[in-house]
Amino acid sequence: MSNDFLEERQQVLDAVKRIVAAGLVSGASGNVSRRIATPNVELFAVTASRVPYHRFGIDDVLVVDAEIDPVVGDGIPSSESLAHMAVYAARPDVGAVIHTHSVYASAFAVAAQPIPCVLDEQVVILGGAVAVAEYGASASQRLADNAVAALGDRAAVLLKHHGLLGVGSDLEEAVAVVDLAERVARVRLLSMQLGAAHELPSAVVSAEQLVYRMMKGFKP
Ligand SMILES: [Zn+2]
Repeated sequence: MSNDFLEERQQVLDAVKRIVAAGLVSGASGNVSRRIATPNVELFAVTASRVPYHRFGIDDVLVVDAEIDPVVGDGIPSSESLAHMAVYAARPDVGAVIHTHSVYASAFAVAAQPIPCVLDEQVVILGGAVAVAEYGASASQRLADNAVAALGDRAAVLLKHHGLLGVGSDLEEAVAVVDLAERVARVRLLSMQLGAAHELPSAVVSAEQLVYRMMKGFKP
C-alpha cells in the first residue's frame, strides 16, 4: 500500500482521544470521521466499530470510500458510517463528523426537546438551536436521513433516543462543536432547574447567525 493515510488517520485518533478525555464518550460508543480529498476519489477516515476506547489505536481508524467499502484497514467501519456519509453528501462544507452519546445531550434527545439558544457562543459555533431528529434505529439509513434533515445548515443535531451528532470544517472544529453542544445541554438543564431558563434575545440570535453563515461561507 503506497498510501496508508497515516496523517489523516492519526488526526482522527487524536480527536478520539480528546472526546474520551472530555468525557463525551465511553466504552465503544460514538464515532469520528474526516473527509480525505484525493485526486481521483473522495475517501473518509472513520473509526472502527466496537473497539473500546482504552485500547483504541491507529489500526482502528479505517479508510473507506463513499460506499463505505474498505480502502485501508481490516476492521468493521463504525456502525453509524451511513449517517456520516449522508452528512458529507449533503454538506460540502463539512470536513469532519463526530457522534457521541454524551449524557446531557442524550437527555434532551430522549426528552425530544430541542436545545434553544441560551449561551452567547452557541449561535456562532453551533449555528443556533440544536434540533432533535426524528427517530431512526441505530445504524439505519432512516437515522442518517433524519439526522441530515434536522441538522440543516447547523453544526449539531440531537438523535432521538440516542445521542448527538456534530460536524465541522475539520476535526478541530467538530470536537469543539460536540464539546459545546454537551455544555449547552447541561447549562440549559441546570437553568431550567433554577427556574429561569432564559433564552438569547432573537435579535442577538439573528445577528450571530449571520456571523455563523459568513464564517461557513454560506450565502446570506
Ligand atoms: Zn450512537
